[in-house]
Amino acid sequence: MSRIFNFSAGPAMLPADVLSRAGDELLDWHGSGMSVMEMSHRGKEFIKIAEEAEFDLRELLDIPVNYEVLFLQGGATLQFAQVPMNLLASRGKADYVVTGEWSKKAVKEAKKYCDVAIAASSEERSFTYAPKVFKTRKDAAYVHYCSNETIGGVEYHDVPQSDIPLVADASSHFLSRPLDVSKFGLVYAGAQKNVGPAGLTIVLVRGDLLGKAGKDTPSVMDYKLQADADSMLNTPATYSIYVAGLVFKWAKQQGGIPVIEKRNVEKARLLYDFLDSSAFFRNPVAKEDRSRMNVPFTLQDPKLDEDFLKGAAKEGMVQLKGHRSVGGMRASIYNAMPIEGVRTLVDYMREFERTHG
Ligand code: PMP
Repeated sequence: MSRIFNFSAGPAMLPADVLSRAGDELLDWHGSGMSVMEMSHRGKEFIKIAEEAEFDLRELLDIPVNYEVLFLQGGATLQFAQVPMNLLASRGKADYVVTGEWSKKAVKEAKKYCDVAIAASSEERSFTYAPKVFKTRKDAAYVHYCSNETIGGVEYHDVPQSDIPLVADASSHFLSRPLDVSKFGLVYAGAQKNVGPAGLTIVLVRGDLLGKAGKDTPSVMDYKLQADADSMLNTPATYSIYVAGLVFKWAKQQGGIPVIEKRNVEKARLLYDFLDSSAFFRNPVAKEDRSRMNVPFTLQDPKLDEDFLKGAAKEGMVQLKGHRSVGGMRASIYNAMPIEGVRTLVDYMREFERTHG
């Protein structure tokens, strides 16, 4: 069996051990005679799977007891609407930080629900850094930011200070590093990067922010109703929750998030050190705000992009094409990307530069 190095921004690589275990358990989960896909979400087998997943995630991130852990659907995109629907609490105002494509989308959606003010923006430098000071309004319900911009490759390495509840779209670096949940009102993340298959969205929300959803909020989108129903107000994404649970166990076996973070630091350093040493490849992001997960880069001449991608595919590396909105290349190097993948990429880039530079 050969596995390629998949640099996709998501759905992305999953740990081979997790896939292999899911494969072993596919037809018959623990002697139940059923696949997890076939189980009732109300049955004792699946309830145990979901409870364990939540328990393991709480341990991994040391989530305080006054936070709810929700396993929802609709992707991070639905959170762009669900956050204002639930957290505005009839204040009608929310503040947003704009650092790239995803936070722009969050703003656009929030404007349907409330008066949005921009608390900080990096637009004047083409979204290549992370502004650290948020100018919030005292009477705004919360301030929202994207803690890792997947397309631009801009990451907040510290949690910004805020006097009003902080809400983070952590989709593309969730579980890649420790997270001090207590500093947030709410954190959300789509699963399909570091957590598991698409179809699952994780929301961590401080208990006192619940129960204030607007009256038109659909029941499945009301955090309080979902929390009261253990995220099973309706049928949840059962198989995605199961695989996410296996990923959480895998992360614990690795030694937990600090060990995973150390590997991520090493992988990112390898790639950025090479980029900085090269006259041919370039990454535009301010050094202190570079993402460890998503590394965009351009070639000296965009006419070489196609050749670069074709050559990479021959070496077993795929999905390196940058997002259609920005072009260039992007290497997403999530938790499950082994360091050999990054070494193979850097070796290939060095050789490409030698032969095309
Ligand atoms: N926010 C961020 C930071 C993302 O990277 C993505 C997806 N790449 C989204 C939101 C949207 O996620 P989804 O497609 O799951 O709705």
